[in-house]
Amino acid sequence: MDLRVNGERLWQSLMTMAEIGATAKGGVNRQTLTDDDRRGRDLFRRWCEDAGLAVTIDQMGSMFGHRRGRDADRPPVVLGSHLDSQPTGGKFDGALGVLAALEVVRTLNDHRTLTEAPLEVVNWTNEEGVRFPPAMVASGVFAGVFDLAFGLSRTDHDGRTLGAELQRIGYAGKQKVGHRPLGALLELHIEQGPILEAEGQRIGVVTGGQGTRWYDGEVIGAESHAGPTPMEARRDALRATAALLGEVYQIAHDQAPDGRATVGELRAWPGSRNTVPGRVAFTIDMRHPDGSVMDAMDHALREAFERAQGHAPGLEFHLHEIWYAPPVTFDPACVDAVRQAAAGLGLSSRDIVSGAGHDAVYMARVVPTAMIFVPCRDGISHNEAEYASPQACEDGANVLLHAALARANA
Ligand SMILES: [Zn+2]
Repeated sequence: MDLRVNGERLWQSLMTMAEIGATAKGGVNRQTLTDDDRRGRDLFRRWCEDAGLAVTIDQMGSMFGHRRGRDADRPPVVLGSHLDSQPTGGKFDGALGVLAALEVVRTLNDHRTLTEAPLEVVNWTNEEGVRFPPAMVASGVFAGVFDLAFGLSRTDHDGRTLGAELQRIGYAGKQKVGHRPLGALLELHIEQGPILEAEGQRIGVVTGGQGTRWYDGEVIGAESHAGPTPMEARRDALRATAALLGEVYQIAHDQAPDGRATVGELRAWPGSRNTVPGRVAFTIDMRHPDGSVMDAMDHALREAFERAQGHAPGLEFHLHEIWYAPPVTFDPACVDAVRQAAAGLGLSSRDIVSGAGHDAVYMARVVPTAMIFVPCRDGISHNEAEYASPQACEDGANVLLHAALARANA
């Protein structure tokens, strides 16, 4: 437990990487497979090779830097995240996980320490999914969520495919995606939420990712004149929706503190100031880390729609589920390695569930996986103002180092 990363070297690497695609407001625009992404990849590859890693690129363009272990037959323990960013992204989202993984290798090199199992540092292609939706597509192909043809055929607004852009920037690798055993996967990431900072905790021990269900809701009434139509004679779709939404939010409150309900889009027709709306359409996003609670929330939502229908027989209430991503529980042994590493380093920590998607969430389907969160200022991310302190970055890298040692030497 006496090994420590070089926090200053990690910070310098983060700041040097952030110069590639730097924005005027102090953020980063390094969208996937752009020329700036290529420059970031080239720099990362050079740093990996300087650290003695053998770099391979897979057919989705994900980069793996391999460090040999004492036992070449053991599957590697993989550390990393992503170097692509949002258009108005920050310096830390993704880059921290990749460069902290590299710092772990540099630290082991400094101390001439060899692990039993090999280590690998990974940079996943297209985690953000801004240019080529969906997000996390390369780790998704690795984990068998998508097939390779689907991944390579993702298309940007200008009609260019992910596969063609990989060719253009020179990162269309030969290595088959996935289909090889990995010993464990550990991803360090900024929290992208406010909990750790608010509670003064230095490390988040991520136990899994919450489940998400998306719905489209629709209420149909009838248009009528805003003046002559008495209130009790109306079939007002928006008024009925407003009453229903109170119940939608209550479903999340009933599952506090982890339940979430968000209505992020709502449109009313015909959209006239002096016409009672005859139709309303809206989206619902429901989340919880427990699958059985997700199902209970789904049940409660359907009941709320039925109750609304019972109260307003002159209107129609429709609910359509359009997507479900079940909750993910990380590997207990890997989660415990993170918890023990934080404790051994004397860093305060708490268990936390990831609210956002990460490559680790897909990879958890095929590899024992865990994540480490560190606080970021005001919980802000996907924003040029995103900031994690040098101390937080160093804390996270030290936990990554010791969790990796525990897994690779187990
Ligand atoms: Zn990220």
